[in-house]
Amino acid sequence: MKTKVKPVSPEAIEEAAQLIRAGELVGMPTETVYGLGANALDENAVRKIFEAKGRPGDNPLIVHVSSVEEIPALVREIPAAARKLMDAFWPGPMTLILPKADCIPSAVSAGLDTVGIRLPASEAARALIAAAGRPIAAPSANRSGKPSPTTAQHVFEDMDGRIPMILDGGACEVGVESSVIDATGEVPIILRPGGITPEMVQEVIGRVSVDEHVMSPLSEGDIVRSPGMKYKHYAPKAKTVIFDGAPENVIAAICARYDALIAAGEKPAILGFDEHDFGERTRISLGSVKRPNEAAARLFGALRELDERGETVALCEAVEATGIGLAVMNRMGRAAGFDIERV
Ligand code: AMP
Ligand code: MG
Repeated sequence: MKTKVKPVSPEAIEEAAQLIRAGELVGMPTETVYGLGANALDENAVRKIFEAKGRPGDNPLIVHVSSVEEIPALVREIPAAARKLMDAFWPGPMTLILPKADCIPSAVSAGLDTVGIRLPASEAARALIAAAGRPIAAPSANRSGKPSPTTAQHVFEDMDGRIPMILDGGACEVGVESSVIDATGEVPIILRPGGITPEMVQEVIGRVSVDEHVMSPLSEGDIVRSPGMKYKHYAPKAKTVIFDGAPENVIAAICARYDALIAAGEKPAILGFDEHDFGERTRISLGSVKRPNEAAARLFGALRELDERGETVALCEAVEATGIGLAVMNRMGRAAGFDIERV
């Protein structure tokens, strides 16, 4: 199969919508990361997603809609807190877990009684869903175990020959996947941090809880509320270590470790902020230390770059784990197996 890459245009969206209606897969831009979309109500189409990604069947997919009017048909109930979150943060980078209706194939929900629903902010994504006339199930468009794609080129690297078409909408604005929020009860539970932060949810609902596994690895016997937590996503080939502490300590510790690694014949690279001075050492930029949203937008591209360049060790600067920084630390933490050195 040859994979076409087409920039977003009315014609390209119509072509992609026809593929979705025909039960095929399309790589699609969203504001978070690129998605691998299929008709969410077509079990066979949904199975193709798992095949193309090499995704374990017990990891459920998020269903994307183009307007809130499409949601009542997909869920059994919209609790009051969920309604408030929708009003406050949709369209946007937030997935709500709700009790699923029977029309959602069990392949989508991985056998769970709930389904994740999202109304994306990306106009191209909403136009595609509306043109297809069906909700679109879409996980991130990477092969399983690779960082989520934030450009059409990333999708092409992973999916060339596996899907008929990628819609190119440029680089994703947010750069990390949506916040996944269990909204089946009165108190929203953040299962995966993203662009909609615990602080933002707290402000609207008055209460919020954050699953303990957001910043710690799973141990055997732990209860998993969100299947995605079980999998070691986003892992570059390079051994990844995070340094956390006062900036001058972090910079000094990273430089010292870098030099020791060079002496030992390794090929280290630093994931660091523009304002920090690492001398001539190899650095992949996380943007400005003052704007953590830049680290969010750049992190997955940086992880891919590490592998392309054959770096063997990644030395990463931590960001403060508040706001969007919590999402950055969750993804960086998982890439590093939560190997965080306090300095
Ligand atoms: P991805 O689309 O690749 O970002 O993955 C979607 C993630 O959302 C999954 O890995 C799950 O962790 C989470 N998710 C989707 N549906 C549910 C659900 N019904 N219950 C809990 N978590 C879910
Ligand atoms: Mg994913």
